[in-house]
Amino acid sequence: MNIVMMLKNERQTYPECCCEDMREALSDSEHPIYYSSAFQEFGLQLSSGFEYSILKYCNWCGTKLPKSRRDAWFDSLEKLGIDPWGNDIPIKYLSSSWLE
Ligand SMILES: [Zn+2]
Repeated sequence: MNIVMMLKNERQTYPECCCEDMREALSDSEHPIYYSSAFQEFGLQLSSGFEYSILKYCNWCGTKLPKSRRDAWFDSLEKLGIDPWGNDIPIKYLSSSWLE
């Protein structure tokens, strides 16, 4: 199990979903499904409210979910000389824009 912190001030966007059930769950606040556009990963939100457990497969249709871009995100910031824990994170790194 891989529990990670949510990215503070992340710009929320909706991803392409594997199925209608996933799409519904993401748009329904009663479902603890989280999508990080910056990291391109799906997660199960924990009761702390700022952490989630990364999901590898869709809970409803069983599709393998996209590979997280978390490591590449940190590598890319490091190359720019930005410490994500100490510096302000450039706005394009708060969504999927950094991948474009
Ligand atoms: Zn699905």
